[in-house]
Amino acid sequence: MTRPSLFGSPPPPVPTASSSATPEKQNESAVTVIAPDGDLLLRVKEDEGQEGFLYRVDASRLRGASTYFDNLLGPTFNEGVRVAKQLEKLRICNPRMIEVPAESLPDVTIVDVGRISRVSSIKFLMADFLRVLHGSSLGKEPPPLTNLANLCVLADRFDSLPIFAALVQKQKYLSLIDMKIKTKGFSASTEERIRQRLLIGVLLDYPPWVRQNSKRLIIQGSGRWKAGFEEEQEEEGAALWTDLPGIIEDELFFRRQAVLETISSLQLHFVSIYSSTQRQCKLGYDSSAQCDLYQLGQMIRFLGKIGTLRFESRISRSDGTNGYEGDISKLLDNLRQCPEYQIDQNHAHCGLRERMLPLLLLVHSMVDSSTNDIGICGECWRDRRGSYAWSLSKPTVMWTKGNALRTSEHNCRLRHAPRDLFMAAQRDWTGDGAMETLNRTPMFLPGKRPESRPW
Ligand SMILES: [Zn+2]
Ligand SMILES: [Zn+2]
Repeated sequence: MTRPSLFGSPPPPVPTASSSATPEKQNESAVTVIAPDGDLLLRVKEDEGQEGFLYRVDASRLRGASTYFDNLLGPTFNEGVRVAKQLEKLRICNPRMIEVPAESLPDVTIVDVGRISRVSSIKFLMADFLRVLHGSSLGKEPPPLTNLANLCVLADRFDSLPIFAALVQKQKYLSLIDMKIKTKGFSASTEERIRQRLLIGVLLDYPPWVRQNSKRLIIQGSGRWKAGFEEEQEEEGAALWTDLPGIIEDELFFRRQAVLETISSLQLHFVSIYSSTQRQCKLGYDSSAQCDLYQLGQMIRFLGKIGTLRFESRISRSDGTNGYEGDISKLLDNLRQCPEYQIDQNHAHCGLRERMLPLLLLVHSMVDSSTNDIGICGECWRDRRGSYAWSLSKPTVMWTKGNALRTSEHNCRLRHAPRDLFMAAQRDWTGDGAMETLNRTPMFLPGKRPESRPW
């Protein structure tokens, strides 16, 4: 992450001459008092061209709360040395700082407050943030989610996440927001709000939000990952949560692709074993060969109808469209609709439904259940990311149903069995030795977006 540090001296005051000055412009020059006895005037601009907003702050409190300000105002930077000298002079004539007018205080200009969203007013947001650095609360009620996310972006930008996290924890803001969500229903959240919660969860180290919101994004997918999404489509200066920092964005995309690839493998497994000469019919009758062909035909018709399988000519190249872009729960639901086909009354247990349903339930339990899920475990992400992140791990060589019952080898309260299934290089779906390896042509590469339809 780049942290441009533009510690330049403040520009000459802009004359506010014209009578056409907007009320907003006049507002900009008013000083917001964070500490009445503060000894520093902070000018904050979003970019160079602005006059910026002014805040009266206490330099020592800022330094105690933020590594950024500690460096900026410390003896190693010119800015810090200049401020210290000015203050020394000021103190000789004014022992009581509260009596010194704001405009006489030494000032420091800060340009670039990090990737906050465009809509928020930086004036009030920055005032709230500075109040937190001075040890004030933001009130009993949690701030609106977007504000909270923007405050996190500021806290990250100015190296003060610990003090901000401590305040949020003390005020129980996140659990208060959860209580509100419960009454409104979680699924009603937009992608932006899910992303904001995930960013807050990661930056403030709140594992429940990391897990829930990463899971939602993996299952429902993101507009960002859809075919045809171009980087240029992104508006200039999009907020930090629109492209999650670190490797989180890649990890989420990677997990989704791994789950989709697994479901695809399950589908292809049955198409391939019913297409093979190996008898699938459960009866030893004369009609067994016909039963297999009948099941194969029904299966292909069903999978075509729900849109998870299509025939593609190998003679010419296909178009470059993406794979499934919808909600994974919906995909599993569609597959579960498979009817019970029977060639005649004798062949009751020969079809796809009876054989695929338990496996679909297993996959579903790995995607979303109370003990296993595909969300990012906040604790493991924090403590052992290198060995925990899917996008950084080697694939499991072989997955069998026995693997699914294995418990995790570390102390996390969650079992992380889903990774073994979804990252497997080979899967033994039915235990009859017919391994699903058809789909091994890499449908995605770590960190890369898929370029062609996976089936
Ligand atoms: Zn049969
Ligand atoms: Zn864990």
